[in-house]
Amino acid sequence: MRKIVFFLLFLAAGLVVVFSPALAESLLGYKDTPMLPSGKWHVHDPDRPKPALVTPGAGFSHGAAAPSDAIVLFDGKDFSQWEGTQGEPQWSIHEDYMEAKPHSGDIHTKEKFGDCQLHVEFAEPPRGTAGDGNSGVFLQGLYELQVFDNEANPIYADGQCGALYGQSPCLVNACKKPGEWQTFDIVFEPARWKENHELARPAMITVLQNGVLIHYQQPLLGPTGHRILAKYSAELPATGPVTLQEHGDPVRFRNIWIRPIKEEEKP
Ligand code: MG
Repeated sequence: MRKIVFFLLFLAAGLVVVFSPALAESLLGYKDTPMLPSGKWHVHDPDRPKPALVTPGAGFSHGAAAPSDAIVLFDGKDFSQWEGTQGEPQWSIHEDYMEAKPHSGDIHTKEKFGDCQLHVEFAEPPRGTAGDGNSGVFLQGLYELQVFDNEANPIYADGQCGALYGQSPCLVNACKKPGEWQTFDIVFEPARWKENHELARPAMITVLQNGVLIHYQQPLLGPTGHRILAKYSAELPATGPVTLQEHGDPVRFRNIWIRPIKEEEKP
């Protein structure tokens, strides 16, 4: 019996030794990744400066009621607007919010959107919960606006909460504490394509996090990836779903609505 206990302890110690450096390194960043177009930083560069902290005002756009022309994607009641990777979402609903169920897969809207204004509220798992609070909001199902608990899990600048993952850190860090509700108010424009299918203009995004501007007309380099230089390798569809990422952590979302910007409304 004693031998078995020692063997298990030995095994556990070995696993810690084997996996801890990999885990730590993955959050610290990488120097063996491609350079971003600025020529200054690698993708997930550990030396890239972290954005300055700004304390957001209390409660900006919390519970913001949907405008009359918005499509309500989640009002706390059901998943009628959503699908999981294999049918019905396996996430759970509590009171007025949904919670990602670890290892059940991402969920995405049934409807697809192009140019839009999107309101999303989210909360990191309360402090003391295991994990790093990783989730994300994908525009067109392609471009990730990161959701992460930076405070408990310091990570490279382009992986922090609110970053355009692997591309652009936030202008400032306006994150709230784990367990506190936060808001993203997003204006998104998909990429535009020429008749010959070449890129005419990249996708663009403007984001307020908790009422603070964190991205301003920021071009997206291409669909989000990990440890790669994002690029537009082929013409992309004009519309796509809003996707919420499941990355093993019970991150919460509530009050999600979207206003598609119609072609005829553009000046
Ligand atoms: Mg993520």
